[in-house]
Amino acid sequence: MKQPESMAKKIQQRLVLVGLVSVALTALGAALLFYRAFAAQVDAGLVRTARAVAAAYTASGGDGLAALADFSQMPEFSGEIAGEAGGQNAGQSSVTGNRLRLTLIDATGEVLYDSTGKTGLENHASRPEVAAALANGSGSDTRRSDTMGFETHYYALLLGDGNVLRLADETQDVWSAYNKVLPLLVLGALLVLAVAMALAWQLTRSLVRPITEMAAHLDSIEADVPYIELEPLARTVQSDRKLQQDNEAMRREFTANVSHELKTPLTSISGYAELIENGMAKPSDVPEFAGRVRREAARMIALVTDILQLSELDGLHGGSGAAGPHEQEAPEQLPVDLAALVKELAARMTMNARKAYVTLQYKAAPATVLGSRDLLAELATNLCDNAIRYNRPGGHVQMECGTAPDGTAWLSVQDNGIGIPQEAQGRVFERFYRVDKSRSKATGGTGLGLAIVKHIALLHGARIDLKSQVGTGTTIRVVFPKV
Ligand code: ADP
Repeated sequence: MKQPESMAKKIQQRLVLVGLVSVALTALGAALLFYRAFAAQVDAGLVRTARAVAAAYTASGGDGLAALADFSQMPEFSGEIAGEAGGQNAGQSSVTGNRLRLTLIDATGEVLYDSTGKTGLENHASRPEVAAALANGSGSDTRRSDTMGFETHYYALLLGDGNVLRLADETQDVWSAYNKVLPLLVLGALLVLAVAMALAWQLTRSLVRPITEMAAHLDSIEADVPYIELEPLARTVQSDRKLQQDNEAMRREFTANVSHELKTPLTSISGYAELIENGMAKPSDVPEFAGRVRREAARMIALVTDILQLSELDGLHGGSGAAGPHEQEAPEQLPVDLAALVKELAARMTMNARKAYVTLQYKAAPATVLGSRDLLAELATNLCDNAIRYNRPGGHVQMECGTAPDGTAWLSVQDNGIGIPQEAQGRVFERFYRVDKSRSKATGGTGLGLAIVKHIALLHGARIDLKSQVGTGTTIRVVFPKV
């Protein structure tokens, strides 16, 4: 058997996992949004500064380089920043960050001035922002800096004299910005984790508690199901329990009935034996007493035979019947010729009928049923036996079988005997139910005949129709499913 998992544990684990993933995704999303807003601000700042510098350059009236040099003295521009690759001093630049750099480039891409003081810089015509400014009047670009974790934003503006003014601003890139706050993030995540775990524990407890409480009152489990999802389970449990209780009640009743039925003949057997034993019976009475003992014993044998039969049927059906537990077996599934069966049975029952002054006839049309021949013979015998026993001298019994137009086979036993009162018709198939107990006993009945019939019909998927009227007679018809 598979070892069951702990539901509470599983829910907790999943909740914590969901919490962690949410924290990670939120942190990542927030960082990206923050970075984009930050980059946009840097770019906007560059544009504004470039316009101001350009205005000063143009206003200087031909001495633009001097104006640029003035700007370079301002704190925002002074000091070195990590420049782009290719400069003489590239690689030596210190990581100052947020230092603006100012470059003047002519229409051919030659660098005329650079605020870092670097000279001999390579041709800048191919730089995307410069190329764009030469073509369209302005251009921008962002490139990875030489310095790890930094990137440089560029903005280039075409000036009135055909030169290009370029501004650069170096900022930390998103990952290094992220790295800085990482310890804080981890701490936050841990905090969130702790809170999530506490919440998950609380939540799981409140989720699972009603389920464990369900087990405490299984009999009314359907009345207070905590979750809709558990309704099918509750329904099954409750109906199973009901079935179990009904079966238990049936089993107890059956046992009581059997004991009672067996006790009566045993008491009289024991009584007659005692009379003979004590010599209280006259020798001339002994044969008669012996006859009574034999008849009582025969009744007991009939009873035990019927009980065994029922118990076997219970086993076949797999149901929990009144008799002990049996291996569940499937009943036979062979084609049975009902017509042949009816003929054979009629021949066998004729003597019984004659003893009761009853005529027995049959009408056997072709009919085939899938099932067990022995059980079907038992069913027909019981019906025929009842039709003879609950009859009157001069009565008549008719056994018939055939196939209906829709292809269903049927078997019927009709008598013009004493009939069954309306109110008893629903109960005659119950175990040990008899309309007239003394008549049943006098004719050797056990009270189990129709219960066996019902059971066999059930095993064959057949339906039983009973029509009866007191004083007129009874017809019992068994309709089998289509083959
Ligand atoms: P039993 O062994 O007593 O005949 P059954 O289970 O065969 O038990 O039948 C139950 C009761 O149904 C009988 O006791 C009898 O009262 C009634 N019954 C069955 N078949 C007929 C019939 N053909 N005509 C009248 N009553 C019947």
